[in-house]
Amino acid sequence: MTQAEETIFSRIIRKEIPADIVYQDDLVTAFKDISPQAPVHILVIPNILIPTANDMKIEHELTLGRMMTVAAKIASEQGIAEDGYRLIMNCNKHGGQEVYHIHIHLVGGRPLGPMLS
Ligand code: C5P
Repeated sequence: MTQAEETIFSRIIRKEIPADIVYQDDLVTAFKDISPQAPVHILVIPNILIPTANDMKIEHELTLGRMMTVAAKIASEQGIAEDGYRLIMNCNKHGGQEVYHIHIHLVGGRPLGPMLS
């Protein structure tokens, strides 16, 4: 297996570059997307580098589960839980993935329209 290359997200986790971090624990970090596509647009990422959804393994299940529960907790804190929101993970080229460190987009605060484009 080739060594996965760190992305800018690893530096955000280590607080080497600024980001608007809204949550961090031993497994995951969440921060506001630098280019928000909706009133609420937050990325939830694992603290370890998992490049794509294809690299998710059984040993990551605790971390992956934490990503989901943290996303729901932040949605509630942001006041968008009742109206609803979308959780998205893009994978590779056809999925539109730009940063190769998996992340859940938590998007909400307005009606989002059809899912696929
Ligand atoms: O799913 P995808 O890889 O395309 O999404 C990457 C996201 O990371 C984009 O929404 C982009 O705005 C965000 N980003 C960020 N801070 C950076 C670099 C990218 O919030 N420094």
